Amino acid sequence: MVKQTIQVFARVKPTARKQPQGIYSIDDDEKLTASLEIILPRDLADGFVNNKRESYKFKFQKIFDQGANQETIFENIAKPVAESVLAGYNGTIFAYGQTGSGKTFTITGGAERYSDRGIIPRTLSYIFEQLQKDSSTIHTTQISYLEIYNECGYDLLDPRHEASSLEDLPKVTILEDPDQNIHLKNLSLHQAATEEEALNLLFLGDTNRMIAETPMNQASTRSHCIFTIHLSSKEPGSATVRHAKLHLVDLAGSERVAKTGVGGQLLTEAKYINLSLHYLEQVIIALSEKHRAHIPYRNSMMTSVLRDSLGGNCMTTMIATLSLEKRNIDESISTCRFAQRVALIKNEAVLNEEIDPRLLIVRLQKEIQELKDELAVVTGEQRTEALTDAELLQLEKLITSFLEDQDPESRLEVGTDMRKIHHCFHHLKKLLNDKKIHGKSTVSSEIKDQDCQEPLKEEYQKLRDILQQRDNEINILVNMLKKEKKKAQDALHLPSMGRSECRRSQSSPFPPWNPEGLRTLPSSATTQVQDISTFGYKSGLLRSKTGMREKISLGRQEAFEIFKRDHTDSVTIEDNKQILKQRFSEAKALGENINETRSKIGRLKEEITQRHMQQVALGISENTAMPSKPDLLEEKLRSQLEEEKIRYKQMFMRLKALKVEIEHLQLLMDKAKVKLQKEFEAWWAEEATSLQVNSPAVNSFNHVKSFPQTPESQQERSQLVSDKSDVNARKILPSPYPLPQSREHSSTSTSLEGSTPERPASSVPLTGDSQTDSDILAFIKARQSILQKKSVDRPSLLLPPLFPRDPQGRDPGPLTPALLLTSSQ
Ligand code: ADP
Ligand code: MG
Repeated sequence: MVKQTIQVFARVKPTARKQPQGIYSIDDDEKLTASLEIILPRDLADGFVNNKRESYKFKFQKIFDQGANQETIFENIAKPVAESVLAGYNGTIFAYGQTGSGKTFTITGGAERYSDRGIIPRTLSYIFEQLQKDSSTIHTTQISYLEIYNECGYDLLDPRHEASSLEDLPKVTILEDPDQNIHLKNLSLHQAATEEEALNLLFLGDTNRMIAETPMNQASTRSHCIFTIHLSSKEPGSATVRHAKLHLVDLAGSERVAKTGVGGQLLTEAKYINLSLHYLEQVIIALSEKHRAHIPYRNSMMTSVLRDSLGGNCMTTMIATLSLEKRNIDESISTCRFAQRVALIKNEAVLNEEIDPRLLIVRLQKEIQELKDELAVVTGEQRTEALTDAELLQLEKLITSFLEDQDPESRLEVGTDMRKIHHCFHHLKKLLNDKKIHGKSTVSSEIKDQDCQEPLKEEYQKLRDILQQRDNEINILVNMLKKEKKKAQDALHLPSMGRSECRRSQSSPFPPWNPEGLRTLPSSATTQVQDISTFGYKSGLLRSKTGMREKISLGRQEAFEIFKRDHTDSVTIEDNKQILKQRFSEAKALGENINETRSKIGRLKEEITQRHMQQVALGISENTAMPSKPDLLEEKLRSQLEEEKIRYKQMFMRLKALKVEIEHLQLLMDKAKVKLQKEFEAWWAEEATSLQVNSPAVNSFNHVKSFPQTPESQQERSQLVSDKSDVNARKILPSPYPLPQSREHSSTSTSLEGSTPERPASSVPLTGDSQTDSDILAFIKARQSILQKKSVDRPSLLLPPLFPRDPQGRDPGPLTPALLLTSSQ
């Protein structure tokens, strides 16, 4: 058992602008803990900070300042937890902080660069690497991905996602068994045999979550996500199985309801979210107080799911994410306060071992039989009938396998039936006698042979043995070669070929992002498609989410081109495409080298074999044993072979790493495409609404709302969006997001306190009518030309693009098309 308090770390997000000095300072000198001091700037000493202390000090295990990269975070925070999970203990890592402070960035990673991979992909990579190294145990890895939104659980990996929206799927519910173990009903577990499969599941879940979210409802800031890796391992032959779970948790934004202070749907949501986090806080307070008998785990779904992680059988780590800007000071202080309480909680992690029930049954059955037999002996009960034919046959089989078994400890188990015991002795005696007679005759013939050919015979025997030995060696080498060849082929072609084929076969109305042929990996592959049966739907689904409608009007397609061109994400996608291209050509070159090395290895092996045969033949013809001095040429060949093998292995490892990176980049790009198309559809629907409202007066845009879109202001946006504009806009304008009847009800007329808010509909309906579509396009173009004209009239003002980029071309964060219209005001 390992007793440990929850480890608490802090991570400070890099600030976008240069901050005035002295908002915080980090003291990392102390050996075991670091401390963070937050200093209230003087100019903030009005309003809420009036009469408050001027500085606050908080202790953490370690504090990662703005410069800390994802690798450092993984090495320091996640790796130790992953190691204990591999050893059979439960682990949890959760990120806590206000919206925009970097929880998702830390747990899952950034959406742009491979180096921005967060804790989940890095941990998966590490775990699979370790499992591969340890071939002495049998492992299984399963993945589940749960989202909790307004106290309802959703399975982000439910295969039925494709057909229905999140809220139509059966909700995940909690069941408790008599031992108070928690079970989650309707949460699917997916086997992942490789890192690639696990990563696909992560991206699939993230994409499903993104699809379910609409611009009106940034669910990601208000829902909790729990990605769980379930590991089990067993030594071959042993009945003991080890199970361990690793929860990687991205909590909802921790901003307070008082600060949110809005009405309508958001209030209900905020209340729920805060209710959920409030219950988490209550559990944590209860746990941090000594002698508290009752811990209110059952109050909320999240605390029930994380029950073991909080004060139970788990090694738990918290990351407090902080966005230490002036306007976030109060939220940062409350995050740190929460962290201080969490740090007091003690957990007791035990090794989760249990006996495999099937093996246990076999063992118990055997024991029962033995006891029965013993009892029969003790009571002296004798059976009188003769043994049946079937019993005799069975006994003979038992004897044969007993005699053939090489294990000196093996036993002939026939129970205590004396008839069976006698039969066995009888049978064994018969076998022994038969063998004696046979043995005698062979011995006598051998003696005759020996008499006449004694000297030759010995030599012949020796040579025959050597030949036999070499034959075996050759067979082993050939088999190894075959296996390696197959492995290399599989690694080279199958997964990426399978996926790319799969993806390409999905028809997309838009030109592919990748240049033609980019995804074709080296060499003429034998295209067996691996894992398609179990995996097809996963990668296929990502793609089908990416693909828009089959039939699409020309107008919309053109509009999409404009949209895509001006979208800031296209820079990222382009960049990633370039990197992918480089990686592909590297992979291709490597693949060619590997093929070359492989054939070289083959040739060398052949030469060695031939050389060996020659030597043996020479030995036979000269009637001598093997030459006593070693064959220099053969030795040289062997050392060359070793070198080539090492080279082969190195290149193979590099190719494997490249494959993972390529996979990751492809998934990132797929995700970016889904996002782009989703935003386009929302924008399109909005444009359609504008057209309906304004038509034909194209020049009046004043009603259109704009969202502030920098990542830092997500929180403000969510407030702003649902503040007045959301509810009111829906009432005034024909809704661009028509909801099913029941949902419309709950979100407009009855969506106030007390009712359970539903997640808004996930898909934005499109017009699909080509006449309307070309009208919208004409409308957009007309407006663009007006904008252009305005900028000509005022040459000092540059024409803002549909989606402004910052001067360095960096992505300022997710943007929505509504920004387009701000410039006209
Ligand atoms: P949260 O999940 O807490 O709401 P996010 O992880 O989405 O916050 O972060 C908000 C924005 O800040 C994202 O655009 C993210 O890429 C960026 N970001 C967060 N942390 C970092 C960091 N350590 N380095 C660089 N960018 C970051
Ligand atoms: Mg987030």
